[in-house]
Amino acid sequence: MKQQWRAAKRMVIKLGSSLLVEPESQALKTQWLATLIDDIAAQAEKGREMVIVSSGSVALGRKKLGFAPGRLKLEEGQAAAAVGQIELARAYQQLLAERGLKAAQVLLTLGDTEERRRYLNARSTINALLKLGVVPVVNENDTVATSELRYGDNDRLAARVATMISADILVLLSDVDGLYTGVPGRDPKARHIPEVRQITPEIAAMAGGIGTDFGSGGMVTKVEAARMATSGGTHMVITSGQVEHPLQALEAGARSTWFYADGDPVTARKRWIAATLQPRGVLTIDEGAAQALLAGNSLLPAGITALEGDFDRGDAVRIIDAQGCELGRGLAAYAAEDAAQIIGHKSSEIEAILGYAGRTAMVHRDDMVILGKAKTGKRKTTETES
Ligand code: GLU
Repeated sequence: MKQQWRAAKRMVIKLGSSLLVEPESQALKTQWLATLIDDIAAQAEKGREMVIVSSGSVALGRKKLGFAPGRLKLEEGQAAAAVGQIELARAYQQLLAERGLKAAQVLLTLGDTEERRRYLNARSTINALLKLGVVPVVNENDTVATSELRYGDNDRLAARVATMISADILVLLSDVDGLYTGVPGRDPKARHIPEVRQITPEIAAMAGGIGTDFGSGGMVTKVEAARMATSGGTHMVITSGQVEHPLQALEAGARSTWFYADGDPVTARKRWIAATLQPRGVLTIDEGAAQALLAGNSLLPAGITALEGDFDRGDAVRIIDAQGCELGRGLAAYAAEDAAQIIGHKSSEIEAILGYAGRTAMVHRDDMVILGKAKTGKRKTTETES
């Protein structure tokens, strides 16, 4: 058993629609689900706090409402979610109760995690439930979510929830047993990758093209979830849920891909920044600034070559290099309008340009996370924060 698993106190288990719902009849696979709940109860028995992130509401509801296969209109999807979610909740409540556990339903809307105040509120609710020994069952509130305002897939929602509550491990139960170098079945040379210590562009590229059309998350969203989880301090593992007792199987060494979080503790504030789903802007930086960032320094205006977006002071922005590769995320110390005037300039010139003395850094290191676990100290520092 992995040391990370042994040490884990709090786990988030995410399961997708394709595991929960029979493709033909679109009925809930209650028998399989019962084996997973057995496993969850066994982990809870060992003193672990367990959170479930479950999809399936739309798939279950559309059957009940008799919708034909294919794309649903927004309001049809919302109606299907409302009908399916109540069935889902009932199944979890019953299966958990049979094992002596209490269930709680938590439905989240994008703003509940993107806005700091609401994020803190959602976090304290889930923490309170866990303290009370309850198993929260989380899903997106699809009944009110619209296409612009939604998580869209439960892989990223699960990563958001896992880092929000400082979970030690996020388990993605999927219809694939991990990440491969190619598409298994189609590419004879496709090799399984058991461990990922850094999410490089090569790793992200491997994720392309693998997925099912049933749930909304293919491998791309899983790697994106891994990036969010690991940079927020949570290890993530993808394994097959197509077996009975999938957590027992994982413990016994079933095939899986582990994405490891850095050992360094991540502050609560940085966890929030790392998993921002809708950054408001983009800062492009030069090589010198990229090296400074990776070495743990703040981002100074001098190293920024371009900016996009209409962000305000305090909004989250993406930080990319000249090749467009995302290096990190952080909170802007200046609104876009002011930022546009000071980029490329020395920090000592800020006051003369803007007419007030603002912060030296465009994104302070305390307000920034480096994504993909690029380790500090690998590159040399060429710039230091004044
Ligand atoms: N929230 C959606 C549902 O419950 C599923 C999204 C997903 O599977 O990624 O139906």
